[in-house]
Amino acid sequence: MSLDEGAGGGDTVADTELPPPPRVIDAHAHIADEDFIPRSFIDGSIDNLLEAMHARGMPLPRSKVARMFEKKMQDPHCDTLIKEMDEAGIATSILLAADFTYVLKDCRLSVEEMFLRHAEVKKRHGSRLEVFGGIDPRWGKDGVALFERSLREFGFRGLKLYPPCGFSPSDPALDPYYELCDAYRVPALVHIGPTSPVLGFSTTAPFLLDEAARRFPRVRFIMAHGAVSFTEECAMLCNFRPNVFLDLSAFQGAICPGGGPAAVKTAVSRGINHKILFGTDWPVFRMQADQKTYVEAVTTEGGPLAAVPERDRDLILHGNIERILSQRTIPDLAKSP
Ligand SMILES: [Zn+2]
Repeated sequence: MSLDEGAGGGDTVADTELPPPPRVIDAHAHIADEDFIPRSFIDGSIDNLLEAMHARGMPLPRSKVARMFEKKMQDPHCDTLIKEMDEAGIATSILLAADFTYVLKDCRLSVEEMFLRHAEVKKRHGSRLEVFGGIDPRWGKDGVALFERSLREFGFRGLKLYPPCGFSPSDPALDPYYELCDAYRVPALVHIGPTSPVLGFSTTAPFLLDEAARRFPRVRFIMAHGAVSFTEECAMLCNFRPNVFLDLSAFQGAICPGGGPAAVKTAVSRGINHKILFGTDWPVFRMQADQKTYVEAVTTEGGPLAAVPERDRDLILHGNIERILSQRTIPDLAKSP
């Protein structure tokens, strides 16, 4: 805020003097609340972290690390997220609700309760937040009915799948979900790669998605973390499957060579910029920095998008996900599957 604005010049004067900030949509976030993530999942992640710290001669007490995790999970209504979005210039964030309830029995909420809580938070913040609802396909018909209700009644805009729970993204049990995605023209976002030690790696590889992507050509599939996990395979799928996308979330970590901005730079140099979605995975990296820092890490002058044409930059930061979301339709009940 400058003095000119306060002196009666108004926001418009100040605004016209500044270059407009890039429009940003965060295609990968979660509600920061332990109600949505089982204790066993968190404990497994803490085990992993403690092992790394101990090996380097930094034996932190487990209780201290647990408190650090707890601290970043205290935003049940997303009010802090919205504040950070404002500071970062993020117009909209997509909340992903993952269903761990079929496989991990220490979840606090049922899938339906989780959906209702997400619907409430969405209502509180209007167009600033969208929701993709997740259901384990082994819940059968009840799960399918709840997913359709989420699209029709709660205004959710997509499906979130977490294959580390022990199913392939091409499992035929998912067909009714993909049929709904097709009918409502909403995307399916699929977790790819690393997870908590309480879940397995065997169903997290990107090529497991290929069969579904070919059987449901009208459904847009988004590979979460595709810029940092199995990057060659993910880029290949984006290049050769018209309906497969990836997101940049977890670029903040260093799990691929170079890590951080280098991972983004590599992803945007593969001729697939029409398939890449900006994402932060809030609140996973909250302890290290805020949303503004992560947006700037990608958009800063001379940063990982420096060699990317402006049109492609706009696609990555907002255009691709807007194109996907804009297709949504609400079919007549008689016609829906
Ligand atoms: Zn995530």
